[in-house]
Amino acid sequence: MTTIEKTRADAEQWLDDNWDPDLTVAEWWQRLADGGLCNPTLAEPWGRGWSAQQAAQFGAAMAQRGALGTPGGIGMMLAVPTILSHGSTELIERFVPKILNGQEGWCQLFSEPGAGSDLAGLQTKAERDGDEWVVNGQKVWTSGGQWADYGILVARSNPDLPKHQGITYFAFPMRQPGVEVRPLREMTGRAMFNEVFLTDARVPHDNVIGDVNGGWKVANTTLMFERAGIGGAGAGPFGAAIAGTIAGHLDQPAASYVRSQGPMGGAGVGSGRVRQLIDLARERGKLSEAPIRQDLARLYSLVEITGWHMGRMRAGSASTGGEGNMAKIRNSQVTALARDVGNAILGMHATITGPDSMTGGDIQELTVFSPAPSIYGGTDQVQRNIIGERVLGLPKEPGPARDTPFKELLHNPMR
Ligand SMILES: Cc1cc2nc3c(=O)[nH]c(=O)nc-3n(C[C@H](O)[C@H](O)[C@H](O)COP(=O)(O)OP(=O)(O)OC[C@H]3O[C@@H](n4cnc5c(N)ncnc54)[C@H](O)[C@@H]3O)c2cc1C
Repeated sequence: MTTIEKTRADAEQWLDDNWDPDLTVAEWWQRLADGGLCNPTLAEPWGRGWSAQQAAQFGAAMAQRGALGTPGGIGMMLAVPTILSHGSTELIERFVPKILNGQEGWCQLFSEPGAGSDLAGLQTKAERDGDEWVVNGQKVWTSGGQWADYGILVARSNPDLPKHQGITYFAFPMRQPGVEVRPLREMTGRAMFNEVFLTDARVPHDNVIGDVNGGWKVANTTLMFERAGIGGAGAGPFGAAIAGTIAGHLDQPAASYVRSQGPMGGAGVGSGRVRQLIDLARERGKLSEAPIRQDLARLYSLVEITGWHMGRMRAGSASTGGEGNMAKIRNSQVTALARDVGNAILGMHATITGPDSMTGGDIQELTVFSPAPSIYGGTDQVQRNIIGERVLGLPKEPGPARDTPFKELLHNPMR
């Protein structure tokens, strides 16, 4: 028996012994965490030290069994690997277990109205006050901010230093009077992301991750995991239940979230989605139309290539350093192509949505969500800049000298 076959057999046995649809979400996630299975690619004691291929076997076994997936979101995808890479033992023990078992939900407080692609231009201030820091400013596009117990926050702690040097990274408590979360409604109809206003909000000094003023290095770790996760190398398979104390899912039956959509909707494009599109084209008699057939073949090829690319990254044999960026760009291309071919297959029916629509709303969901992947986690243009500058060694974009103090740079006034 190969290692992969043994992992699959063990996973099925473990699910036979443990999966019970009558458990609450919290009880089920605790069982997964106790078994090191919320993210089995992590080293013990947090995971099982499995390869990504072994973890994928467990994911496939869960899907086949109809078991609820692991806690997902910013906590699992970004906070865990960042805290494990840069946090003290005390921080790791304080935060990681409650992310793994889904007890605490997290959001990402990075982007600001004047700092998205130019994240290092952020202006939210953090000022030291004894054992605490006082935070003032505004964040935006904060996905899941309304359900988060904590946020990974980057804030300017020293404006006298150059812009990349005066930033500190915090594990920031969201449930406090100085934090106001205002939802932003998207064209999907949902309000997945938010504006977050921080007014004299407080965070203990003990919650600094990495060094004071050394947050840019920590943020880069987060961004690296974000790109790779969006590109498809994430910890998955994530369940649709939302982690943390605020969404109210923890006490509900695990079975009730198994087949529902997560907060991002059902817009991911993988080989399952490609098969659905091929079936849809066959049903509609569109497979004989050459442009549709060619686009389906192109989509199939891109998705397969993405799978191999991810496999190479997960196996640690990536070599250029730009693989995460490429994966993220590929994800944008795949999403846009799936949207276009889906709309071409449906023709005018693509404008009709709702329970009576002939596609159950899948293509429509993809259509309204499709602009997002080329923006979040760093836009496609920014990924290309990174590949150009850091991988290909092209000259950097012109701008002020990197050692210019932040306060001497041109920017809109701070709040
Ligand atoms: C669905 C969604 C969820 C998100 N969730 C979060 C979240 O949870 N937390 C969070 O902090 N942020 C989040 N974001 C924000 C996201 O990270 C930013 O939108 C993104 O980094 C782009 O920043 P911006 O919107 O300010 O655009 P800008 O930076 O203003 O860019 C505008 C345009 O200019 C281009 N551009 C900018 N600079 C350059 C350059 N140097 N070279 C070439 N082109 C350039 C960009 O590519 C883009 O096309 C989310 C965004 C979306 C769409």
